[in-house]
Amino acid sequence: MPIKTEVFQQRKSEWLTRYADCPDAPGGPNGSPVVDEAGNVLKGQMPCPGCGVTFFHSPAGAVCVNCGWELGLVPIARDSDGTPTFTPERRHKIMAVSIFFCTVFSLIAVIAGIAGGSAGEVIAGLLGVAVGVIAWKITRLGRVWWGLPAVRKAECSPALFVGGVMAAFVFPFTLFLVWLIWATASRRL
Ligand SMILES: [Zn+2]
Repeated sequence: MPIKTEVFQQRKSEWLTRYADCPDAPGGPNGSPVVDEAGNVLKGQMPCPGCGVTFFHSPAGAVCVNCGWELGLVPIARDSDGTPTFTPERRHKIMAVSIFFCTVFSLIAVIAGIAGGSAGEVIAGLLGVAVGVIAWKITRLGRVWWGLPAVRKAECSPALFVGGVMAAFVFPFTLFLVWLIWATASRRL
């Protein structure tokens, strides 16, 4: 079942209005990457996972006005005229768990740091919360990943790394955390 959302309809009419006589414009049917005078491809562009035309992505998301692909969709088939059909991306459970661990444990570290008066722990915890929230927003808590531009994936990697390590060692880490809370509470650190 082709998914053509209101966002797509809106973006497409915007695009058509702006580039009516210009099929080579970015994101259009013949869209190729936009380059500067030196021939370098301008940053912030990505090839459409559905049809291959190049368009500018934004932090708000990515929509291809040519075929209707948008973030969170995976092309599964093509019609005879080449129009792709999409299915929603499946939630990535391990990724969601990793982001969750990163955020929750960082939050605990902040609380423990405040309780124990450890500024370093509070700062580290706040950093962890920040990267966790960024990854949560970008991936919509594990719902999108496949079609994300590389730069957005890179922004998620600290949370995925930290959260993944925490998830893998959750038990020893819990013990460590208990020790940390005890140690900071009794001012041994
Ligand atoms: Zn497309």
